Amino acid sequence: TPVMAIESSCDDTACAIVATDGRIVAETTLTQSGHVPFGGVVPEIAARAHLAALPALVRDTLTKANMQPHELGAIAASCGPGLIGGLIVGADMGKGMAIALDKPFIAVNHIEAHALTARLPGVAENGAPFPYLLLLVSGGHCQCIAVEGVGHYRRLGGTIDDAAGEAFDKVAKMLGLGWPGGPAVEALAREGDPRAVSLPRPLMGRPGCDFSFSGLKTAVAQKLPAEVRTALPRQEAADIAASFQQAVSDIVIDRLGHALDMMERPTTLVVAGGVAANGVLRASLRDFAARHDLPFAAPPLRLCTDNAVMVAWAAIETMRARREAGLPIPNDIALRPRPRWPLAEMAQRMTAPPL
Ligand code: ATP
Ligand code: FE
Repeated sequence: TPVMAIESSCDDTACAIVATDGRIVAETTLTQSGHVPFGGVVPEIAARAHLAALPALVRDTLTKANMQPHELGAIAASCGPGLIGGLIVGADMGKGMAIALDKPFIAVNHIEAHALTARLPGVAENGAPFPYLLLLVSGGHCQCIAVEGVGHYRRLGGTIDDAAGEAFDKVAKMLGLGWPGGPAVEALAREGDPRAVSLPRPLMGRPGCDFSFSGLKTAVAQKLPAEVRTALPRQEAADIAASFQQAVSDIVIDRLGHALDMMERPTTLVVAGGVAANGVLRASLRDFAARHDLPFAAPPLRLCTDNAVMVAWAAIETMRARREAGLPIPNDIALRPRPRWPLAEMAQRMTAPPL
């Protein structure tokens, strides 16, 4: 019986119905536009927009699936980490439906959902058996995770300041490109020379696999005094964009090299998050994987950015893993959404009764 999931942790409102074998029955994603004038996600606007959009979104998704609510096997929702207002809206909607339908409610960790997307049938050629190395690069996250099993995630390193997407967004702002900035920086970079502007690569060569982007961002700002930003010749702006993008890509590849040394040999290199849309980064990742003789998996873009299919799939994987471990299906009605929810806490789900 298919699982319905709700995603509302940031600025995408999404609902999906996924069969237990991973077949996507129906999906709907709505990216909020109300944040554009503010140049970033405004939490209060996000929460209200989720509340306004969700009931119709859920109904539409059921209609697309040609299903009645009672035909669902379980309801899942992202319960953290993320913006708490939106998380509460999505979780309460899911819990309300679960109670009304007398079905289990599964609270999903949003990062876990990104991590398990590669195992959706059809995404990775080899099905991404455990353990695999995950690079998560989005607007809010930048980390390397050893995915060792359902519920078993080891954070190998992460950013000590900005996330990769955040750096793209800030550089875009400096170049006057609007928000979200990643796609605009990439487009402009196509006209530029990645070796034209010398920029630092913070932490590169250092042990471990933490990331730092704030020094890189500052270096870009120093190349761009406020008075020249508006009057910058297009070629110069393009050179800066290309050089910045190259620096990000170099940093990521260096860090991944260290991540490989920090885990048992992975079966696959997996990338997820909105920054995975970046063509230059993708090409470097593909090349890195080939050099290390590793299969490379990048989910299609709509499954890389925030979506509800991954949330449903994480719930399905959790239910299956618990059944295999002789544990009952969790019912997380009492679990409250959490703005922070470390992945390390997911392991207890696979051994103990639900919280
Ligand atoms: P979260 O971090 O909670 O997962 P988010 O909404 O911030 O959610 P995503 O939707 O996964 O993150 O990704 C959005 C980010 O990806 C933005 O920072 C955006 O600038 C960046 N991005 C999108 N396309 C590109 C691209 N082509 N090149 C570089 N960055 C990109
Ligand atoms: Fe996300």
